[in-house]
Amino acid sequence: MGLLALGTALEWPDAKKRAGQVREWGIKQLLQIWNKAKGKERDAMLWGDEIEYLVVTYAKDEPKVLLSLRQAEILDALASDHELAKNGGCTAAQQNHELKQTQAKPIPVFHPEFGRFMLEATPGRPWGIGFKELLDVEPDMKLRRKIAKEHMLSTEYPITLTTFPRLGSPGQFTDPYYPPSGPRLRSQFVPDEIANPHIRFPTLAANIRSRRGRKVQVNVPVFHDKNTPRPWKDPTVNFDLHNWPEDDDERNGAAPDDFIHMDAMAFGMGSCCLQITFQAKNITEGRELYDQLSPLGPIMLALTAATPIYKGFLANTDVRWNQISRAVDCRTPEELGEKPLKDDRWRIPKSRYASNSTYISNDPRLRREYLDPDLVIDPEIKQQLLDGGMDDLLATHFAHLFIRDPIVIFEEDLQELDLNKTDHFENIQSTNWQHMRFKPPPADNNIGWRVEFRSMEIQVTDFENAAFSVFMVLVTRAILSFDLNFYVPIKKVDENMERAHGLDAVLKEKFYFRKNPFPIRPSRANTTLGDESRPGSAMHSRAASPGPVEDEYEEMSINEIINGSPDGEFPGLIPIVESYLDSVNVDVETRCELATYLELISKRASGELDTTSRWIRNFVAAHPSYKQDSVVDEKVTHDLIEAVIAIGERESAGRNFAGLGIPGLPKLLGKFRGGCGEEVERDVNGDGQSGNRK
Ligand code: ADP
Ligand code: MG
Ligand code: MG
Ligand code: MG
Ligand code: MG
Ligand code: MG
Repeated sequence: MGLLALGTALEWPDAKKRAGQVREWGIKQLLQIWNKAKGKERDAMLWGDEIEYLVVTYAKDEPKVLLSLRQAEILDALASDHELAKNGGCTAAQQNHELKQTQAKPIPVFHPEFGRFMLEATPGRPWGIGFKELLDVEPDMKLRRKIAKEHMLSTEYPITLTTFPRLGSPGQFTDPYYPPSGPRLRSQFVPDEIANPHIRFPTLAANIRSRRGRKVQVNVPVFHDKNTPRPWKDPTVNFDLHNWPEDDDERNGAAPDDFIHMDAMAFGMGSCCLQITFQAKNITEGRELYDQLSPLGPIMLALTAATPIYKGFLANTDVRWNQISRAVDCRTPEELGEKPLKDDRWRIPKSRYASNSTYISNDPRLRREYLDPDLVIDPEIKQQLLDGGMDDLLATHFAHLFIRDPIVIFEEDLQELDLNKTDHFENIQSTNWQHMRFKPPPADNNIGWRVEFRSMEIQVTDFENAAFSVFMVLVTRAILSFDLNFYVPIKKVDENMERAHGLDAVLKEKFYFRKNPFPIRPSRANTTLGDESRPGSAMHSRAASPGPVEDEYEEMSINEIINGSPDGEFPGLIPIVESYLDSVNVDVETRCELATYLELISKRASGELDTTSRWIRNFVAAHPSYKQDSVVDEKVTHDLIEAVIAIGERESAGRNFAGLGIPGLPKLLGKFRGGCGEEVERDVNGDGQSGNRK
C-alpha cells in the first residue's frame, strides 16, 4: 500500500460528507491522466513482483512464537543503512553467489503494510523483457529476504506464510504484548496496536467499521476433524463483553456455530500475498492483458492455496481471499440488501475487495454476454468520463470503481484540486482491491499503463514464489504472442473464485474455463503453434460465427487447465508456454532453469506435489500434540514456524532441502535441481538420509 501524505484524517461522518468531492476531483484527475497518456506508445515490457512477509519472533527454546510489531523500526533500519544505499545493493549482491549480475542493481525496495508485523519487498527496479533476467528473480527474492533479516533482531525472522496461525488467539501472540479491544478496531481478539500506526491504517479500519455500522465479520467454516464437536462453537468468542457498543455484534448473531469468528480488518489485511505487475506497450495491450489474465485469477488462487489456519483452528477453506474481502467490507445494511434503500444509493453485490466485475478490452472477441448484467455503476460519473472522451467500456469500469466512498480523507488535500496529481483518483482506485488492477500511468507519465495480477498466495520458499511469478510472466507473453482468448462470462470468474476456496480445490474442484483459447481473428503471432506432434496441438483456431456463449466453456480441473486435457482437446497452459518458448530463442541453460519452475507448477496441478495448504494440514495432523480436534496450539505453531524458518535458512544457501527432516517437505517441493545439470534428490523420506547429488 502506498502511503498517502500525512495530515488530518477525517473520522467517518466527516469523511462521508466529503466523499462526493473526492470522487469528483478523482474523476477530473483520471481524465487528465487519460488524456495525457492514452496515446502513449512503445513502453517497455517490464514487470515486477511484490513479496509480503510476516515478521516473527522465534527462539528454539521459547515455547511461544510471536508476531514482532517492529515494522517501523525495521523499515527505519533499512532506510538508514548507508552502506546498503551506497553500494546499490552490490555488497550484498556479491556475497550472494547466485546473483549472476554484471552491473549493480538498485537495492530492493521495502514497503510498510497494514499489519504492524508485516513487510513488503519489491525488486529495486522492474524486470525487463530478457529471458535470462527471469533467472535473476529467485536470487533477488532471496537477497530481499537476506537484507530484511540483516535489519532485524537475531530472534526475528521474515517468513512467507499467508497468515500467522494464532493471530487473535487467547493469550499473547504479539511481541510486545497488548491487550485486545482498542477504540479503532474494537476487536475482541486483537489490539489496535496490531495495525501499522501510520494514521492512514487505523483510520481505514475505523472508518470501514463506522461506515458499515458494526464490526467487520470474518467468519470461516471450521474444519471438522474426528474429535471436533458438532456443532462447533468458537470457544474464543466472548458473548459477555461490554467495552464498546460493537460488543453487541456477537450477541446479535455475528458468531454462528461451526465458524471461526473474527472481527477486525487485521484478520484479512494481515495476510501475505504474491502480486505481479506488468507494463504493457500501450493502453490497448494493457486492456487486453487485464481481460485475458482475469479468468486465470481463481485458477492461480487455488493452485497457490496456502491458508488452512485461522485464529488457532483449522479452517475448512484453503485460501485467504474471502477473509480479506470480509475484513474490509464497508457496505451498509442497505447496500447489503438487509434493509430497504433509503440513505444509500444502491445495493452492491460485492465487497470492495473482490474478484473483478468488468472486462475492458477493445478486443472484438469480447462479447456482450461476458459482461456482468447486474454491474452497479455511477451513471453520472460514467457520463462525465464519456463527456471527457473516454470510451464506454473503460468509462464503465471506472464508473464501477467509483460507486465506492473514499475511506480515508485528509482534510488538507481538499483545499485545492491539483490536476498534476492523482491523489484523489488513487484514493478510490487503491481501495478497490479487485483481483486484477488496471493501473494508469502516474501524473508525470514517466511509466506506462500497467496491469496487476493480485490473487496468488505467498509461498514458503522463494523458489516457489519465483516459479509462480515467472510462470505468470511466461503466460502473459504467450497471451500476447499467440493472441490467446481466455474469455468466459465474468460471472463464471466470480463462481470460480468461490470454488477456489474449497479444501484441496486444486484437486477436487472444477472451474469454468474456455475450451478453445486460440484466436479466431488473424493472429498477431509471427509463429504458428507447432505441428500436430506437439503436445496440445489441437490448437488451431476454428473460425466460426460465434455460437451460444455456453458452448465456449466447460468445467475443467486445474490439472486439465494447467497440463492439458487427457483427450488433447484443451492444450493446457504449460504446453502453451512450452510452445511459446519453442517459438523464441532461449538458450539451453535458461530453458532448463525455466523447466524447473514449470515442473513445480505442473506437479502442483496434477497433485503429484502438495499445495502449501495441504502441506501445512499434513504437518498439523502428524504433530504429536494435535488431538484431531481442529485446534492448532502453541506447540504446533512453534514447530510449524520453526520448520518454515529452517526451510528459509536452508534455501539461502541454495536449493537443497535434503536432510532437514521436515515431514512432508519432499511432497511440497519435489525433486529440485541445484542448478541445471546437477540434479539434487530432495529428502525423499523426510528422514535426512537421502539428498545426495546424483
Ligand atoms: P502496489 O503496492 O501499488 O501494487 P508496488 O510499488 O508495491 O505497488 O509494486 C509495484 C510493482 O510493480 C513492483 O514489483 C515494481 O517493481 C513493479 N513496477 C514498477 N514500475 C513498473 C513498470 N513501469 N512496469 C512494470 N512494473 C513496474
Ligand atoms: Mg502489499
Ligand atoms: Mg506494494
Ligand atoms: Mg500495495
Ligand atoms: Mg501490489
Ligand atoms: Mg474443446
